[in-house]
Amino acid sequence: MANYNPYENMLQTLDLAADTLGIPRNDYEVLRHPEREMNVAIPVQMDDGHVEVFTGYRCQHSSVLGASKGGLRFHPDADENEVRALGAWMTIKNAIAHLPYGGGKGGIKVDPKKLSERELERLTRGFVRKIAPIIGVERDVPAPDVNTNPQIMSWIVDEYSALTGQWTPGIVTGKPLAIGGSLGRNEATGRGCMFTLLSYLEKQGTSIKDLTIAVQGFGNVGSVGALLMHREGAKIVAIGDVHGSLYNANGIDVEKAYEYANSHGRSLEGYEEPGMTRIPNPDLLLLDVDVLYLAALENQVNEANMKEVKAKLILEGANGPLTKDADLYFFEKGIPVLPDVLANGGGVVVSYYEWVQNKAGFYWSEEEVNEKLAKNMKKSFEEVWAMQEEFKVYPRLAAYMVALRRLVEALKIKGYNG
Ligand code: GLU
Repeated sequence: MANYNPYENMLQTLDLAADTLGIPRNDYEVLRHPEREMNVAIPVQMDDGHVEVFTGYRCQHSSVLGASKGGLRFHPDADENEVRALGAWMTIKNAIAHLPYGGGKGGIKVDPKKLSERELERLTRGFVRKIAPIIGVERDVPAPDVNTNPQIMSWIVDEYSALTGQWTPGIVTGKPLAIGGSLGRNEATGRGCMFTLLSYLEKQGTSIKDLTIAVQGFGNVGSVGALLMHREGAKIVAIGDVHGSLYNANGIDVEKAYEYANSHGRSLEGYEEPGMTRIPNPDLLLLDVDVLYLAALENQVNEANMKEVKAKLILEGANGPLTKDADLYFFEKGIPVLPDVLANGGGVVVSYYEWVQNKAGFYWSEEEVNEKLAKNMKKSFEEVWAMQEEFKVYPRLAAYMVALRRLVEALKIKGYNG
């Protein structure tokens, strides 16, 4: 879509949140501007000897509440606009979750599937050397996002530690356990999405048992979320990734599909099970299901397809999967949307726990992590819910209002210096 500008959408929602709360522009103007942005050129000697130069980005949208915090994505569509919007959403998300963090996001414009393992490592280490001057344990802490994983995080720690001459596990979160990762981090985003859904269903007095769910995206967020919801009794009737979408009216065997994807480079390509049919990817979004769980990329439901969506509830595992028009359309139609900045906050919440454990040098059990995560997600949900009830606004706006109040309070105390 030519005029799709996610940062502009973020600003409109932020302004509306401020208007609704009666917060004057002066009190939050700083949040409308990304605090610091860096574009870097990363030369990589490819395996065949030729040199390619990749472009990388890091946007530190805000440090009002603490170090900028947010993931890194490796994707052909990554650019400064995308990273800017994603960084701002992290500011909102981290504020909702009561984390002592501002927000940021980074990325490299690359299709990592076209790189060998060694090329990917050289690219990651090259990126770290370029952004090292602006990141830091108390400054800006990256993490995994689309197409990045614990292995990539470990190269980041290793390179940064070598550069600074000091073992610094807290420079990045989402690390493998062996080098200071946290138990439960890998599953945290999907688990948090499930907690948000359960909190919502509890308010409705309904159960997750036998709810039909279609899942777009089968990476970390989609696959773990689908698996946990399936284990709670939901019927996952469709799953899909870039390779195609699978439909089974009797419910996909999610345990089997999860195992398969894990042992096939997180891909569903070639997966088969009895009773399953293949459907075109755009059709997955239009299935007549109770819940549409969006766990792929932004801008998936928009003016072109929003009117054909038949789901009764939308759960945002991805960041920004709905355009603003789609958001408003669903609000008018009475179709609830559990928004990204609330629903997918589980990942960064456990990133925070990982960072705390790194700083303390003392590690928690998985039960402890999951219990704390459950409490945090419940609290955030209740605060957003209360805001929504009080002002009769749609959930995303209520979520922004919760965040904005917190951010403005800090801004005022700091003398608006951001
Ligand atoms: N990339 C994830 C997100 O969008 C996690 C960020 C983090 O853990 O810092 O929320």
